[in-house]
Amino acid sequence: MQLPREVIVGKGIIERVAEVCRRLGFRESALVVAGSKTYNIAGKRVRELLEDYGVKVDTFLVESATIKDVEAVEEKIKALAPQVVFAVGGGTKIDVAKLSSAHQEVPFISVPTTASHDGIASPLSSVKGFEKPYSVMAQAPIAIIADTSIIMQAPWRHVISGCGDVIAKLTSVKDWRLAHEEKREYYGDYAASLALMSAKLVMRNAELIKSRKEEGLRVLLEALISCGVSMSIAGSSRPCSGSEHLFSHALDTIKPNHGMHGERCGVGAIMMAYLHRADWKHIEQTLEVLGAPVNANELGVEKEDVIRALEMSSTIRPERYTILNKLNLNHEDYERLAKTTNVI
Ligand SMILES: [Zn+2]
Repeated sequence: MQLPREVIVGKGIIERVAEVCRRLGFRESALVVAGSKTYNIAGKRVRELLEDYGVKVDTFLVESATIKDVEAVEEKIKALAPQVVFAVGGGTKIDVAKLSSAHQEVPFISVPTTASHDGIASPLSSVKGFEKPYSVMAQAPIAIIADTSIIMQAPWRHVISGCGDVIAKLTSVKDWRLAHEEKREYYGDYAASLALMSAKLVMRNAELIKSRKEEGLRVLLEALISCGVSMSIAGSSRPCSGSEHLFSHALDTIKPNHGMHGERCGVGAIMMAYLHRADWKHIEQTLEVLGAPVNANELGVEKEDVIRALEMSSTIRPERYTILNKLNLNHEDYERLAKTTNVI
């Protein structure tokens, strides 16, 4: 089990970056990995603060999250041998820094600039260029520094996506439980409960989150971080990624870049909750409160794309047993499912 040693969430806490480094023993050198935008938003400040503290800092800017980017960061790590890598950014920059630092066996500190998905704290990394569209094991961050005053400046859609990714745990935990009961797959109650509690907290605080106050953002960030920790405890993405994520991956393959990850997962969770005979309407209503997409139209995809994605979902990751494998539905069934849940 790899767990973060320091997690700080709050207004202006980026200023404590040197203090965190001191406690963790990173006093000599660091590499800041960021995108050009996120470098200006937060990376530069991290660099200044570390330099003031006497740490030698290098910067590496990445613009995408492909294997090539990971290799480039790895070369940089090999050349500089920093004590720690700072991953500053939304999803993709963190994923690149996470995977490259893991390969080079250097710890990394996550400094998210958005709250759009649970990758900000998870040990998994999603990088384009691999055969599979889902994430691979990398390493958990040694620390997470989530400054709410920075994250508040990101577009509201990122918050919506983050909420969708957390609410999706309602169905991913059910899929995990099912795989345990029917396929004797390892199931960890603690990891499952942590993921489930995060989803319930976000559901319960939808109105607060919607008010766009710092307090609501904190609830979401803590939920996203707890989801990341639940994956560290489980040793896989199992507690946080079930049939609804398979749907999201499938839809992204069919229609790339339509809707954000968490937005697609939220819509997936509505349909998968129906299949699990859970309260799908509650999920739909909560997503509506947040202003998140609840149907194909709002995701910007066609009805046919949704049905094709549903059909493709169970084939994307054959070893991941979910409700889709159990029910083994056909084209008409999927069409009925999407219609009944108002997704098409
Ligand atoms: Zn996710």
